[in-house]
Amino acid sequence: MSNNQSITIIGAGLVGSLLALGMAKKGYQVTVYESRSDLRKSDISAGRSINLALANRGMKALEQQGVLDLVMPLLIEMKGRMVHIIGEQEQFQPYGIKDADVIYSVSRGQLNALLLDEAEKLPNVALHFEHRVKQVDLDTGIITFNSSSQPNQRFERIIGTDGANSVLREAIAEKTTNRENVNVEQLGHGYKELCVMPNSSGQHKLAVNALHIWPREDFMLIALPNLDGSFTLTLFLSKIGEQSFEALTTPAKIHDFFKQQFPDVYPLINNLEGDFESNPTGNLATVRCQQWHYQDKALLLGDAAHAIVPFHGQGMNCGFEDCFDLLIQVPSSENNADWQTIFSNTESLRKPNANAIADMALENYIEMRSSVAKESFIRQKAIAHQLQSWFPEQFTPRYAMVMFGAMPYSTAQELGETHKIMLAKIDEAQQQGVTLTKDLASQYLSTHGLL
Ligand code: FAD
Repeated sequence: MSNNQSITIIGAGLVGSLLALGMAKKGYQVTVYESRSDLRKSDISAGRSINLALANRGMKALEQQGVLDLVMPLLIEMKGRMVHIIGEQEQFQPYGIKDADVIYSVSRGQLNALLLDEAEKLPNVALHFEHRVKQVDLDTGIITFNSSSQPNQRFERIIGTDGANSVLREAIAEKTTNRENVNVEQLGHGYKELCVMPNSSGQHKLAVNALHIWPREDFMLIALPNLDGSFTLTLFLSKIGEQSFEALTTPAKIHDFFKQQFPDVYPLINNLEGDFESNPTGNLATVRCQQWHYQDKALLLGDAAHAIVPFHGQGMNCGFEDCFDLLIQVPSSENNADWQTIFSNTESLRKPNANAIADMALENYIEMRSSVAKESFIRQKAIAHQLQSWFPEQFTPRYAMVMFGAMPYSTAQELGETHKIMLAKIDEAQQQGVTLTKDLASQYLSTHGLL
């Protein structure tokens, strides 16, 4: 076999398993090393969030690999946010104006397992679990493992989908003259997962087709539905301070906090203090990486290249889109690939977009934990939806561009900045008694260069 035909992947998480499938379908001999045991055989969580939101960009990449039809039965449609404010009726805020403007809740473990199953069906994929890569030597092409009983392995080309603490990223950083290759920005807030079990007939206890949010200004609770009738709740909260994880030190304090802050869902939470104590408090950070590739040898994708905070529900979606953009450039294994160009193009194409979604995800934390409860936000959302229904070709709200579209994240971010200014102006005019007509709206769009 020629050198051009083998690909080694570190990490069989969501992105690594989709990539393994994609590369194998193109005929490459794919070897994957994953540090954890096989999640299909052992009772381990797939890591991090139990469920997550799958949106258009991720679905496009699944479709590219011919697995979207298999994934569809695992999905629960979420048509908007159900906002829970203390003392008020819960309020549904639709994500968009079209039937297709929905996102989907999916179990991380089930999606990961499906991708591994599909990859493993191909004869040219070898999955090695319980193989934690310790070091990658980019000069000699040798990988070493944490366990001394595992012999070193050679690689021709290596792709790191080994998550936010990537070892391949370290190896690439060593090769760069700029030692500032990686910037890690801690959010200062962590997260903890809890559970609302189904009712006695197996049904969901909260409205099923929505992403529930309890916005509390400096922190929030969210809930995503699972197929078994349960909901996974995630509390996002500061790590330190008066209202923080560090302050919730006793069962009484935990119960008081939930009773006070989330009175409607508090009685529905199963095993609150047990789960609170036994489930880890997850860390949240943004990782931006300068150099994603090394010559024709190595490339980073997914969280290894760009870990982002989860508030736009786009980390996995962005990682899947990385795979889409890479695989579209990769020829089948019978043809010679110019890997240096492919890796370099992938980095140039994806990096500005990863940075843009990283910024938007940070902004969205404020939107979710605070803005959604404000009148001005609700008014401006309504204006945006009105503009979209009048001018569907010219105006798509930023949330829809990110979640339901596939335009580069950086373009969505840029347009979104213009939208923000314009929507604030229209809102202000409306507050002063001006009626927004289609003609007036077209003037606003035109003044802001959107028509
Ligand atoms: P990972 O999922 O981190 O997988 C990396 C894999 O590499 C793991 O299996 C790990 O065991 C393995 N590995 C690590 N180091 C080594 C090593 N040295 N050797 C061998 N193997 C190794 N994204 C969305 O799109 N929508 C959401 O709704 C969403 N919600 C989220 C909620 C939370 C609370 C969090 C924390 C994240 C959320 N995300 C969401 C982001 C999403 O989880 C990540 O972007 C996604 O998991 C990235 O996939 P990955 O395969 O790149 O990395």
